[in-house]
Amino acid sequence: MYLKGVGPKRAEALAAVKVETLEDMLEYFPRRYLDRSKVTTIGQLQADVEVTIVGEVVSKQLIRYGKRRLVLKISDGTGIMEAVWFAQPGLFEKIFKAEQMVAFSGKPKRYKQWQMVHPDFDVLTETREPLNTGQLIPIYPSTQDLKKNGVGNYTFRRIIFQALQKYGSEIPESLPPSLCKRYKLMSRRDAYQQMHFPESDAALQQVLRRFKYEEIFYLQLLIALRKHFYYAPLAALPVTIDDQLVAQFLDSLPFQLTGAQQRVVDEIRADLQGGAPMNRLVQGDVGAGKTIVALIAMLMVVSSGYQAALMAPTEILARQHYQNIQALLEGLPIRVTVLLGGQKASEKKRIQQEIADGQWDLVVGTHALIQDKVQFPKLGLAIVDEQHRFGVLQRGELIEKGETPHVLVMTATPIPRTLALTIYGDLDVSVIDELPPGRQAIRTFWRTRDKLPQIYDFVRQHLQAGKQVYVVYPLVEESEKLDLQAATEAYQDLSANVFPDYTLGLLHGRMKADEKENVMAAFKRGDCHMLISTTVIEVGVDVPNATIMIIEHAERFGLSQLHQLRGRVGRGGSQSYCILVTPEKVSDVAGQRMQIMQKTNDGFVIAEEDLRLRGSGDFFGTRQHGMPDLKYADLAVDYKIVQVAHNDAFELVEKDPHLRKAENQTLRIQFKRRFADKFRMPDIA
Ligand code: ADP
Ligand code: MG
Repeated sequence: MYLKGVGPKRAEALAAVKVETLEDMLEYFPRRYLDRSKVTTIGQLQADVEVTIVGEVVSKQLIRYGKRRLVLKISDGTGIMEAVWFAQPGLFEKIFKAEQMVAFSGKPKRYKQWQMVHPDFDVLTETREPLNTGQLIPIYPSTQDLKKNGVGNYTFRRIIFQALQKYGSEIPESLPPSLCKRYKLMSRRDAYQQMHFPESDAALQQVLRRFKYEEIFYLQLLIALRKHFYYAPLAALPVTIDDQLVAQFLDSLPFQLTGAQQRVVDEIRADLQGGAPMNRLVQGDVGAGKTIVALIAMLMVVSSGYQAALMAPTEILARQHYQNIQALLEGLPIRVTVLLGGQKASEKKRIQQEIADGQWDLVVGTHALIQDKVQFPKLGLAIVDEQHRFGVLQRGELIEKGETPHVLVMTATPIPRTLALTIYGDLDVSVIDELPPGRQAIRTFWRTRDKLPQIYDFVRQHLQAGKQVYVVYPLVEESEKLDLQAATEAYQDLSANVFPDYTLGLLHGRMKADEKENVMAAFKRGDCHMLISTTVIEVGVDVPNATIMIIEHAERFGLSQLHQLRGRVGRGGSQSYCILVTPEKVSDVAGQRMQIMQKTNDGFVIAEEDLRLRGSGDFFGTRQHGMPDLKYADLAVDYKIVQVAHNDAFELVEKDPHLRKAENQTLRIQFKRRFADKFRMPDIA
């Protein structure tokens, strides 16, 4: 590609912002558009109404006494306005020159004269002409480096204009014609043209609509192809379920499965006996009883002579699963072991060897399970508990321990359906949407720290009634030391001064494996009445006699984390409580989170609210899930597009999985170009 005005220096500056090819350049989306219809004159300014004004710099003054600041006066013939910078005034001082044309956007305030503080700005020296002609002027993201090399907004526009003129006709359509037609999508070529040189607001809307659909469609295509090629063609392990053994086990349980649990068990049974490997997500709110479902699945597979592995994100949870499973399987001919990172090297080595020798039917563990050294000769089922705590890669590593094992992943983090279509689009989904009978809704209260004495009185009443209590402290990496100290000090203070007549335990990630185990075991037995802990107990921990969860610094937790923590109580038949403790002053968003927690126990509602407060980018690291980043679409907002694009992509893959049809040729090329690192197309060149 050759473009006039782009020499080596400018090319280098452009490369620094990743603009190297024509496609990169066309996709360098304007940061915003200067809408001429919204440009006001200084004479017409109103206080606190966001506008853009365009004028000439008449003076600039770097004021050094008092609060250092830069004051710029600009005039547009109808009046004078000041723009003021308190932050880095010296830096901004260098940017502006007298007589320059500038555009400022912001909310003005009226003092002696109109003033905008830290406005958005663009230096328009060269842009008189497009300003006078265009309705919408694209403003490109710029860096100091670009500016230094003379690639300001005007130059950018000129370069892109040239590129479009010269190469525009070569831009291929990237969507199948039938879909373009069905949704009346603007062609890709027009979309680039309009994105950079929009004729109107309406045209821009169409550009966005097209690119959003395209982006989501490709994402769904990736998911549909993964599903089609990774799982469907594999020969499933033949599982012959020993029904008698399963029935014997169900009879031995102290409870009956809920209808929802039974339904999911049936779905799993059908998968295991179907033609393809199971690849199923079990989603169920905290306390819905997923463990037992997983155990039944393991039983089915193990009774057929295979091994099963269950991976959990923390040692505490893995050990708890191990103990529960051991107790539940008593009397059945099934051999269970546990493999943890924190075990002694010699012990780990022995267990690894025994797994390799086929001595264990059922192996519970942490990440330790997916280390190189661990070999499963006959892995028939891989289960990942609390899937959201792992990445897809780790899930993959567990699966690779077998030939084509059946796969079950479990999560308590409900996610809105549109996100599920993306993040779990390649899995079949089962939902346990019913809690075991007799559960009472947890009551949640938000209290400030000065109420701690009353909270402790409340706790005391429950301790006297034989109940147990959690107190959780946040632990974030940046302030790990301080956080640990907070938990430790609270433990000492509460033990010595507040509850000297009860036994308290302290639990955090820095403790040795056997120390953790002892504390957890004592709490389980009821010998320890109150557990002061960091978030190591966030997921999975199950002690039904614990009925109060106090979360300190609740403002520092996200919604789904709060919900998970709260899920540690309310697991038995007694009324349980969650008390969110925060300082007097919390941010607006944190306050909203507390209110949502007080209002609902429903994980799905919480997930929707979480998505709304955080936006989808943040909600689930899409990267962590092996998904590309989205540039135009927002899964939270564009859920309607997600729904149709999902169906379109899956339908297309069903009809033409190799993308061989003539009408899918550009699709195939574009797909390979975009996702070479994310998906290898089998058997097509
Ligand atoms: P989660 O879905 O959060 O993993 P668990 O599997 O830990 O939930 O189960 C929560 C609690 O509910 C456990 O104490 C478990 O024994 C109990 N439980 C599970 N299923 C039932 C049922 N059908 N009836 C009564 N209690 C049940
Ligand atoms: Mg669980």
